[in-house]
Amino acid sequence: MNRLDWTKAVEFHGHECPGLAIGFRAVEAAWEQMGITFSGDEEVVCVVENDACGVDAVQVLTGCTLGKGNLIYRDRGKMAFSFFNRKNGDALRLMAKPFSSEMGRKELQEYILNAPVDVLFDFMNPAYSLPELARIFNSLICDSCGENTAENKMRLQDGKKVCLDCFKKYNRGW
Ligand SMILES: [Zn+2]
Ligand SMILES: [Zn+2]
Repeated sequence: MNRLDWTKAVEFHGHECPGLAIGFRAVEAAWEQMGITFSGDEEVVCVVENDACGVDAVQVLTGCTLGKGNLIYRDRGKMAFSFFNRKNGDALRLMAKPFSSEMGRKELQEYILNAPVDVLFDFMNPAYSLPELARIFNSLICDSCGENTAENKMRLQDGKKVCLDCFKKYNRGW
């Protein structure tokens, strides 16, 4: 990992920012501690617990992407990244420690890019297990809008198969 990779992350993301720097350092730590390399298929999986800037560093530097199915968004609002290596079963969760709010944006970014990783993150085993390989589902035509939809996303409504856009949600807040 070097400055070249940071440039690559910045180009992909569109700007430099402290959030991108967090993702960058998380990837760097996973490379160093797990020996993972760029994932051309699904051999490395990353579970991200936020959908912020750092996720773009993960995608471009590890090859864990939405399209390949080896990037999983676990919506928890936490600056945490878990890496899984399917080849040997290794798993590592990195949880970013809170930062001092005294620092300005640029200063914070430089701090994140240069601080030792164990100052930036707590390291632990993920409490969840390795997600299954991405599945390909059959498609069904929605009886309401007529659009072809993966069958695991269908609902039944008035005895008809409907997509999530056509389904009227029933949620009583329990
Ligand atoms: Zn950003
Ligand atoms: Zn529909």
